[in-house]
Amino acid sequence: MTKVPEIFASLVFDDRTMRERLPKQTYKALKQTIREDKPLDINVANIVANAMKDWAIENGCTHYTHWFQPMTGVTAEKHDSFINPTDDGTVIMEFSGKELIKGEPDASSFPSGGIRATFEARGYTTWDPTSYAFIKDGSLCIPTAFCSYTGDVLDKKTPLLRSMEAINREALRVLRALGDNTTTKVTTTVGPEQEYFLIDKAMFDSRKDLTYTGRTLYGARAPKGQELEDHYFGKIKDSVSGFMKDLDVELWKLGIYAKTKHNEVAPAQHELAPIFTTSNLATDHNQLTMEMMKRIANRHGMECLLHEKPFAGVNGSGKHNNWSIGTVDGVNFLNPGKEPINNKIFLLFLSAVIKAVDENQDLLRISAASAGNDHRLGANEAPPAIVSMFIGSDLEEVLESLAYGTDYEGEHRELLETGVTVLPDFKKDTSDRNRTSPFAFTGNKFEFRMLGSNDNIACPNIMINTMVAESLSQFADILEKAEDKDTALIDIVKDTYRKHKRIIFNGNNYAPEWVKEAEARGLLNLRTTPEALSHYCDPKNVALFKKHKIYSELELHARSEILLENYSKTINIEALTMIDMARKDIIPAVSKYVKELVETVSSKRAVSADITCELEIELAAKLSKLQLCFSKRIDKLDSLLLQAGDIKGVQELANFYGEEVFPAMQEARIPADEMEMSMDASYWPYASYGQMLYSVK
Ligand code: ADP
Ligand code: MG
Repeated sequence: MTKVPEIFASLVFDDRTMRERLPKQTYKALKQTIREDKPLDINVANIVANAMKDWAIENGCTHYTHWFQPMTGVTAEKHDSFINPTDDGTVIMEFSGKELIKGEPDASSFPSGGIRATFEARGYTTWDPTSYAFIKDGSLCIPTAFCSYTGDVLDKKTPLLRSMEAINREALRVLRALGDNTTTKVTTTVGPEQEYFLIDKAMFDSRKDLTYTGRTLYGARAPKGQELEDHYFGKIKDSVSGFMKDLDVELWKLGIYAKTKHNEVAPAQHELAPIFTTSNLATDHNQLTMEMMKRIANRHGMECLLHEKPFAGVNGSGKHNNWSIGTVDGVNFLNPGKEPINNKIFLLFLSAVIKAVDENQDLLRISAASAGNDHRLGANEAPPAIVSMFIGSDLEEVLESLAYGTDYEGEHRELLETGVTVLPDFKKDTSDRNRTSPFAFTGNKFEFRMLGSNDNIACPNIMINTMVAESLSQFADILEKAEDKDTALIDIVKDTYRKHKRIIFNGNNYAPEWVKEAEARGLLNLRTTPEALSHYCDPKNVALFKKHKIYSELELHARSEILLENYSKTINIEALTMIDMARKDIIPAVSKYVKELVETVSSKRAVSADITCELEIELAAKLSKLQLCFSKRIDKLDSLLLQAGDIKGVQELANFYGEEVFPAMQEARIPADEMEMSMDASYWPYASYGQMLYSVK
């Protein structure tokens, strides 16, 4: 039996371990640094480093690594052992404060979007003491931020921490203006729900497309997909359950609050949700969760697919970013309480989010933009590329009544129905929870649902924190000057609702009519990644990020460039893989099968001229025709890739990949899938959709 409280965070140098192992003074100094976001004193760092090293060695470590999140989207680590040679030829195990605080990985091999010229390859990592060190695979991992030598950010963590500082600063201004002198720190919390697929490892290995690109580039539909809706919340299969149990234990050891697990809509698709925590910890934990999922799946002879669209025709995978804001002591400003209409703090923070989302639709869309996620957004399985908000009919009524003086009937309705005289609790929402909304209020938090399963959640949270910080900053400007704070606050709420009401849509976001309606409302519809990214460096965004000290203009341009390049590279790799599979595997396989058919005809004829050979001849003719069509489409794809080589400019190149290369890939796939359906399975070089989706028992 696993004793969860005993193993929980056993691999984390967390507060409890620090208190146990650090001298009182050091512990106090470190805590102060963490609380006040101050740089760490080297003397303190030396003592902490030594204690960490002893603890790590006791737990079987030989190495340490600075663990960081460069712009590649995955985490990076470079392991150094603790050994230090002595005069007598032996070694001692050492780890200094300097090594704890700062690392100097060669930055030249990480994407920098042109920030760091290759002659200045130095970059450095600095410990983020707000995220605890932990043990993974025999190494002490130190969560760090990654910057270029000149101080420009090269990672996703630094801007996230900056955005948390910004929202804390602006929220405190608002609270102070309203007379709150006790709250010391405001923080944002996140709970990311993670979707994934599990398939048999050998089948995964047999497919170049899955191995190189994470998704199937070919594959005829299986006779049974998700149409019976029998997988969602269904009984979990034994081997999947074994995987989930192992995963829970490993995550718990890392101090990750793994909480909910269930089957998702598509066959072989599942979900894991942790209990929420602060944004930066949630980000670290989600990165670790994804890594652990892959590793533990392998242990169980399976492969975990985190791609947004591993299989055509069945749902892809996303991630829901549940977000809220409150005090470090746990007061949630987005909790409406029993009477939201009288809950001023709630109304003010709700307004801040409404204003932020309406004014920054582009940034939210950008934060979920990737080649993989383009397969999902707007495809009737995930929210559309149009950003809108769901707040539920009760809250809408509250805001309507404030803004336009209409009657608020929420309470009466309940009273009439139940005849109870006490005030009923505010119901989370009166309509069914809207699953189609990209940005939904779900009781006491907002759920941003556009993310792809593979995304690092730092990006959307940088956006949300920064844009809400901006709303709060504008509110604070008003409140600080106002004589009558209460009236000023209500005026802000009214004014915000009147101005930004268009962003609120409680209906079905998957309906085709919504696209038209959204256009009439003037909402953005940025269908593809290149289209979305073309707005990243708009003057409004440059000004926003500059004002809150998240990104300089240079850093913003760099980010946009990296994302565009990443998009083009992803599609390029996919196209090359398609060509490779076509020429090396599929076309030869079809030839072999056609040959077999033709030989069958000759052997039949040799026996007797009366045996009919119609089937073989027709099939051979059909396959040969499809094969030729396929080969031509592959040639066309090949020539498009050559053309791409001549295109200058990252935006232009991404546009070309999106508008020319991607459709050519879709075209090429059609005859291939048709051939797969017409052929003897033993001749087809890859595991089929049916085999993969139902491979795990
Ligand atoms: P679902 O959306 O599937 O119905 P839940 O409503 O149970 O799931 O919660 C989803 C996630 O929201 C969980 O990770 C949960 O911890 C998180 N969550 C709950 N409250 C907050 C909050 N105040 N801030 C951030 N995340 C939260
Ligand atoms: Mg959810």
